[in-house]
Amino acid sequence: MGMRRVLAAALILFPNSLSAQESTAVTLRAAHLFDPARGLVLDDPVVVVQGGRISAVGTAAAMPAPPGSRIINLDGATLLPGLIDAHVHLTLGPADSNARATLLAGFTTVQDLGGLAHANIALRDRVAAGRTPGPRIISAGGWIGVRGGICDFDGRGVRGAEEFAARVREDVAAGADLIKICVTGWPGDALSHPDSVEAGEAEIAAVVAEARKSGRRVMAHAIGRRGIEMAVRLGAAAIVHSGFPDSVTVAEMKRRGIYLIPTLWSLTGRGASADATALGRHMRRVLAAGVPVAMGTDAGVVPHGRNARELAWLVRSGLTPLQALRAATTGAAELLGLGDSLGLVAPGRYADLIAVEGNPLDDVGRLERVGFVMKAGKVYRNDFSPSR
Ligand SMILES: [Zn+2]
Repeated sequence: MGMRRVLAAALILFPNSLSAQESTAVTLRAAHLFDPARGLVLDDPVVVVQGGRISAVGTAAAMPAPPGSRIINLDGATLLPGLIDAHVHLTLGPADSNARATLLAGFTTVQDLGGLAHANIALRDRVAAGRTPGPRIISAGGWIGVRGGICDFDGRGVRGAEEFAARVREDVAAGADLIKICVTGWPGDALSHPDSVEAGEAEIAAVVAEARKSGRRVMAHAIGRRGIEMAVRLGAAAIVHSGFPDSVTVAEMKRRGIYLIPTLWSLTGRGASADATALGRHMRRVLAAGVPVAMGTDAGVVPHGRNARELAWLVRSGLTPLQALRAATTGAAELLGLGDSLGLVAPGRYADLIAVEGNPLDDVGRLERVGFVMKAGKVYRNDFSPSR
């Protein structure tokens, strides 16, 4: 009784107190739970969440809800780990509404690969502080590319290894979690001039070396054959966009666990062109070879909040539904260096959970209709049990 009075007083003083919410365990019940690691759908799952993390996972028969926990019934739904988009630009356009649309679409974590004036870092911090709803954001600062090149959006392009390295220091000082370098042009250029690059070996090597001093990973926009080969050889953690890597480079990516973030919808799915057709055909071979894949859309180029459409493009390009879902969960989590915290519904991980109707392994298009979103234990969307 005394305890309840103290809690009531706390709630009056702090009506939106997060700590009051988080002290109560939440128990989620659903019809199924998708486990990307094992590639299985489990029946009658129970997931217990406390303090923003998952504390227990079991089945209804074997694990009763803890006494006093708040129960959320997602009748008929399939629970999944929150999705990850490894390539977005949330601050192109209205940042806060882009972030909100992305989260409500089931993407609880994103990697933002470029914004002007470090707006993507500021957005990351606003979301983390709870000032605006959005996904957990892993943020590059700006685009680092050659003066007058494809990523010189703001006249801040650079020239030579020293200037490239200086831009890395600047982004790290501003709080960037990773570094984005632009190595080649777009598919048309890559097709007609496979050896053409905007950043040379010295520039790429300088960026990677500078980034490593502060433990930052480098993601390389590289589409042409030679640019991809150089970025892989010189230490990029991922190659951004579909492209034309040769079979030797693909084998090297597999051997060293270097990811591809294909952005297939953006590059091959918007209008037919000779470039898009050639790229799509090449990517089917690259994906069939088993290169590590993290799902990414380049949202900002395609609409924010429609990110899951990329899953259908991955499947259309030859991945199985399970491989596509892994690209958006366990695969992307590993690329982000968060393989222990994200990507699976398991004890100790962030309580990032979404739900859809039916079995996502039958049709990844179901992920385009997410009906429940929880991030770090907080519910942002629930179309299944509106009363919560
Ligand atoms: Zn991009």
